[in-house]
Amino acid sequence: MKRLARRDFEKSPILIFASYFRPYKKRFAADLLCASLIAGVDLAFPMMTKFTLEKLLPNRLYRLFFGMTALMILLYALRMGFSYFVTYWGHSLGAYIEADMRRDLFHRLQELPFAFYDNHRTGRLMSRVTNDLFEVTELAHHGPEDIFISALTLLGSFILILTFRWEMALALGALLPLLVVHTALSRKKMLGASGRVKERTAEINASLESSISGIRVAQAFTNESYEAKQFAQGNEHFKSAKRRYYKVMALFHSRIELMTQGLNVVVIALGGWLILRGRMSLAEMIACSLFTAAFLQPIRRLQNFVDQCSTGMAGFKRFVAIMRIEPAITDRPGAIDLEGVQGNIVYRDVRFSYPRDAAQDGPPGETASPEQAADRNILNHISLYIPAGSTVALVGPSGGGKTTLCHLLPRFYDIQEGSITIDGKDVRDCTLASLRRNIGIVPQEVFLFPGSIADNIAYGRIGAAVPEIAAAAKRAELHEDIMGMPQGYATLVGERGVKLSGGQKQRVSIARIFLKDPPILILDEATSALDALTENKIQRALGELSRGRTTLVIAHRLSTIRNADTILVLDDEGVREQGGHEELLRRGGRYAELYSAQFSPGHGAGSHKKIPVNQNKLQYPPVKNG
Ligand code: ADP
Ligand code: MG
Repeated sequence: MKRLARRDFEKSPILIFASYFRPYKKRFAADLLCASLIAGVDLAFPMMTKFTLEKLLPNRLYRLFFGMTALMILLYALRMGFSYFVTYWGHSLGAYIEADMRRDLFHRLQELPFAFYDNHRTGRLMSRVTNDLFEVTELAHHGPEDIFISALTLLGSFILILTFRWEMALALGALLPLLVVHTALSRKKMLGASGRVKERTAEINASLESSISGIRVAQAFTNESYEAKQFAQGNEHFKSAKRRYYKVMALFHSRIELMTQGLNVVVIALGGWLILRGRMSLAEMIACSLFTAAFLQPIRRLQNFVDQCSTGMAGFKRFVAIMRIEPAITDRPGAIDLEGVQGNIVYRDVRFSYPRDAAQDGPPGETASPEQAADRNILNHISLYIPAGSTVALVGPSGGGKTTLCHLLPRFYDIQEGSITIDGKDVRDCTLASLRRNIGIVPQEVFLFPGSIADNIAYGRIGAAVPEIAAAAKRAELHEDIMGMPQGYATLVGERGVKLSGGQKQRVSIARIFLKDPPILILDEATSALDALTENKIQRALGELSRGRTTLVIAHRLSTIRNADTILVLDDEGVREQGGHEELLRRGGRYAELYSAQFSPGHGAGSHKKIPVNQNKLQYPPVKNG
């Protein structure tokens, strides 16, 4: 099935829900047909009984009587077939619909920009994809069917009873409005309660996710009991939410029980009275009793439906809420493909602040207070020019916005003012895919996918051949490390690459870019996790990588950017200084200051003062035997 279009999600949830049935129309219709045939068989039984008791037995019509019995057996055999179809195909239908919804949700999650993920916890989102849609299958299958069959049997028995005993029909019929109103009211309450359960489950999942991914930190600080307490709190919230839900549910169920039991009493009382007055036969009375039994089934179904609807719909509404979020960063209509890139990059008077997320999910305590949330410009009046093929280095204090500035080029975030152009084309006029295809980023924090190291390198160009992967690894100075690993290129890196060193991870990410081979390169402190020796080697690799590409390099260690064509010094007021290494040193400004802090012995944090070491003190203490 095709994905639903974005505008489909502006409709009401019920209509959206219905849209998901569209591709399965035929199967759904067949399902409903079978369901109504089942209802028909159920309704036929009391009528046939009545007919037998009234017409066949008193007149001793044996052959017809046994014929009738055989017919009943036949009908029930057919009913079994229908029932098989409804259970098997109906449930599969529900699962298909659930899978379609999940697919759409996954696609939507992929479209949502960085800013969304800055404000939403992974565990909560996972909960939406898995847990929230969990009961939708049941709802999608049973929901329409339950309503349909219930309505059919209730109306059917009402009409059939009406044909022979209107007093009884009216008495039973009077119950229907009561039932409908009660169901509607309870459904609303249960939906709310179930929504809270979903919210709490999401909270638990979020807490679980962060505790498990942070388990190493927790153990290092022996904070397991703290984590357990945090978790227990979420679990408590879940318990009380669930208890509240069950309270509403119990009330609903017990009232329904009362109504159904009342029904039996009404039938006996009214039936008895009618019989005493000579206005009803015993056979009619039996048929009425059987109809009451047939009446009870749709009521059970309705009850069932309300349970399913409240849990399924609560999840579905949370699904719709995400589907309704407009991805803030998308291709504008008529966006062009960025092709044949030279790499002339211009930032013109750029202002940027991180977007606030109004729809931040989570309990109220988790959202930022208004003053915290006030827009703070991270970048102000930034103008810079990076000529095609040149290497420009960005220097500045930590937290000065260097990474932010780099993230604006591939449009991970959109700027508020000014413009950013590549070869004169505004990045907002280009398709995201073509824009990002042309930019390679070696990020500050490398993310590796669980899988083999070869797979992780091949992420730079999915489907790259093994020799290409090896060539990329060689150019990233990673090949030898990999050959030293137990399974070579097939070595599994563990979750987020925990089985690799920081430097190895960094080089995997460099190798990815060798494979991707983009004309524009961003190196965000690409060598900061490396030791001096590896850094030297990598420096050569990076030099080679940046040859012929427009390169924006951020480096903490100023030694690594000496060869840049231009060095920009960034601070709160924007680009403070600009020029070549020698030129900036001669000028004696901010850059010279930073540089001397790092390199003159005895000054600043970056200096490596030689500490005299008494060799004797470094010897291991003697081992005492025995
Ligand atoms: P640098 O790379 O120069 O060290 P960054 O660009 O990472 O600095 O960060 C600049 C500022 O923006 C910092 O004050 C940081 O707190 C803030 N910041 C960084 N990322 C985000 C984000 N995703 N959402 C909100 N603020 C952020
Ligand atoms: Mg940074």
